[in-house]
Amino acid sequence: MHEFGLCEGVLEAVQSRAAGRPVAGIRVRCGVRHAVEPAAMAQAFSLVAAGTEAADAAVEVVTVPATVSCRDCGTASESMDALAVCSRCHGTNVEMSGGDELVLESVRYLTPSG
Ligand SMILES: [Zn+2]
Repeated sequence: MHEFGLCEGVLEAVQSRAAGRPVAGIRVRCGVRHAVEPAAMAQAFSLVAAGTEAADAAVEVVTVPATVSCRDCGTASESMDALAVCSRCHGTNVEMSGGDELVLESVRYLTPSG
């Protein structure tokens, strides 16, 4: 599961933001090219974060599309698929951009009142 490597980076970002506050949940924007399974991501994160302030955090993954530009017909379209083909001519002579980000979008904290 390559989600583990991704989660280590996410955890670092969470910890630097949380600064010891218990984390209730996080939201991560993840480019489609990482081909992340949200369930696997959540499972990997809970293992990576075990023993930290983010151990019980709920993980929400927002998948970010990539842009596919076709070298044959010039069509540019968004793709939610890690393996891109042109949406117009279905050719594979395409260039992908974007879809490779991994950004910690937000962190929710446990409040003393629950
Ligand atoms: Zn095309």
